Amino acid sequence: MRATGLFIGGRWVAATDTSTTTDPATGEPLAEVADATAADVDAAVAAARDALPAWQALPATERAALLWRLADLVEADAEKLAELETRDQGQPLPVARNVSVTGAVEHFRYYAGWATKIDGAVRQVSFPNTLQYDKRVPVGVCALIAPWNFPLMIMAWKLAPALACGNTAVIKPAEQTPLTTIRLVELCVEAGFPPGVVNLVTGGPTTGQALVRHPGVDKVSFTGSTAVGREIVAASAHDLKRVTLELGGKTPTVVARDADVDAAVSGAIAGGFLNTGQVCAAYARLYVDHKRQDEFATKLADAASRLRLGAGLHPDTDLGPLVSSEHRSRVDGYVRGAVAEGADLLTGGSFGDGPGHFYRPTVFGSVADTMTIAREEVFGPVLAVLSYDDEDELLHRVNDSPYGLAASVWSNDLRTAHRLADGIRAGAVFVNMACIPDAAAPWGGFRTSGWGREMGPYAIDAYTEIKGVWMHHG
Ligand code: NAD
Repeated sequence: MRATGLFIGGRWVAATDTSTTTDPATGEPLAEVADATAADVDAAVAAARDALPAWQALPATERAALLWRLADLVEADAEKLAELETRDQGQPLPVARNVSVTGAVEHFRYYAGWATKIDGAVRQVSFPNTLQYDKRVPVGVCALIAPWNFPLMIMAWKLAPALACGNTAVIKPAEQTPLTTIRLVELCVEAGFPPGVVNLVTGGPTTGQALVRHPGVDKVSFTGSTAVGREIVAASAHDLKRVTLELGGKTPTVVARDADVDAAVSGAIAGGFLNTGQVCAAYARLYVDHKRQDEFATKLADAASRLRLGAGLHPDTDLGPLVSSEHRSRVDGYVRGAVAEGADLLTGGSFGDGPGHFYRPTVFGSVADTMTIAREEVFGPVLAVLSYDDEDELLHRVNDSPYGLAASVWSNDLRTAHRLADGIRAGAVFVNMACIPDAAAPWGGFRTSGWGREMGPYAIDAYTEIKGVWMHHG
């Protein structure tokens, strides 16, 4: 593929610096992509600012129509986009089709509907002869920064509500996985978004830093690691930019004594190994009632060992490669650490075959709360099984984490399910099901898992400011 990645003010711009993105299943180069410089970021932010007044003034029905057209174009391009996502990111083609591309389409359609429903209210103020109303206005220029695990879908989570609310955007995909975002911008052009409404800068942390520090940016929406989330808060502090953060997690699963263990095992496989565990809400630490622990751990390890590793484009693949060799080394470091700390390796724990960045699905038993494998985010195909006796003590242990993104509960007793759903401190609790974010429902974390919420009506709060108007009439 040609070198590309800068789309500024309605034009594709030649890059001075580039980097290579590679296929994680083979290590082969895929494309040369721009490393946007600070000057490129300046130009992109200026273009977004210039486009803001006309875009805000456009009737909401026209913004809705453009978003709807974009959804149709993404859907029509689904096979090409899915294949591109699989090549660049590694996820199996069915995941790219049914999670990544379908998810992006749903978000553009859902927020196309919202564009015409961003209402205000009239308030009964005490001052006589005064009409007071409040309305929502766009925040302004939004910097949208995405990670590499679900590049297209996560960018759609941000871009769809930002545009629906009348903001303009400068978008930055992760340096490892820029290709579907570049294609998305081509589709924005085809849909007819005016120049400057959507601008693209590809590149890594340096490009991201230039964007976050830029005084012309009003809002930053970031999905990525908690460590970079902290840097973004610090960098945006000077201008007190609006910031939304979707960060890391260490999602607990609770398997109660009365649970259907086979269903819980299938749920742990789906929730723990989707996208090779490179999921912020991956079901990574599993607390099992001590009476069911052996049965659960044995069945889980058996099911994990039967998952087929391979290239995402291969039809028999259950588990694709990790995104990069650096990331695979990091995951392997956690596995070695868990063995050294005394966890019981039930299956996996080694590299897969071939030149790609494959790692075997790994399950640890006899994990203690204090072990690193129970506390830190691995972001790979590694599950830790712990056991519990008492529900109160369990809740304390589950909540004793810096994270609070999601949780899962397996129980056939409504009282247990409600007690745990109430007691677990997390942004989303899934009972008897895998984790399935939806455009209509809130997504985001407690504690160091993030700030604010995406999706549903909550994203409308995140991409608008409230303005109160007072009108005295004598
Ligand atoms: P990362 O934090 O390393 O990078 C994310 C993005 O930020 C990339 O585009 C990167 O180029 C950019 N970036 C890096 N440093 C920056 C800086 N100082 N300033 C501005 N931008 C910068 O994350 P990653 O490794 O791409 O993704 C994995 C992480 O993302 C995991 O921790 C995972 O839990 C998290 N994640 C969270 C969610 C969620 O919804 N909560 C979803 C997906 C991934």
